[in-house]
Amino acid sequence: MTENETRVLIVEDEPTIARAVADRLAAEGFAVEVAADGPAAVERARAYEPHIVVLDVMLPGFDGLEVCRRVQAERPVPVLMLTARDDETDLLVGLGVGADDYVTKPFSMRELVARLRAVLRRVERPAMDGGDGPVRVGDLEVDQRARRVRRDGREVHLTPTEFDLLACLLRNRGAVLTRAVLLEQVWDWADASGTRVVDSHVKALRRKLGQELIRTVHGVGYSLEAAP
Ligand code: CA
Repeated sequence: MTENETRVLIVEDEPTIARAVADRLAAEGFAVEVAADGPAAVERARAYEPHIVVLDVMLPGFDGLEVCRRVQAERPVPVLMLTARDDETDLLVGLGVGADDYVTKPFSMRELVARLRAVLRRVERPAMDGGDGPVRVGDLEVDQRARRVRRDGREVHLTPTEFDLLACLLRNRGAVLTRAVLLEQVWDWADASGTRVVDSHVKALRRKLGQELIRTVHGVGYSLEAAP
């Protein structure tokens, strides 16, 4: 997809920030729309079908977490969340909200654009070694070609990033992967500055797929068990 066709929905109730983000993304060649509260965001996501949502957490109506839940329930779409403070990011990480990445205010437009492009690159990346059909681990079935996951025969909806993280752990089954390695392989980040985002997504995967699937190796990283 060319960037002229890449639609970004910006959800932000502070007009100055909304306009600055919209202007910059438009200048970068993205198509943009802006929503200023929770209900409008859900309505615009449905009608505009964005490729990615830039989503502020604190919003009138209902907050960004609820927007994220409602939008994802209708159609999986990557979400880049804007948080007010580092401790707010920590809170969201703790909740395992289904956002693909977090940017803390104040942020530079350059950083926002870089993180947005990184999320889009990951989503557009073809699934790896998908030629072997679905992989089974216990009651889990992962179809890398179709990017679908079933547990006990029932489909489980994962965000694009959650799927990529699961696929990465699956490819390296039995090995312990550090947060830095996971950041590089799943998020395309060469530096390890955002390791909390890894913890957040592991938490989300455990919530959706069961606590026992991914093992925490304290002080090292994470591992998907080799044996069912
Ligand atoms: Ca706000």
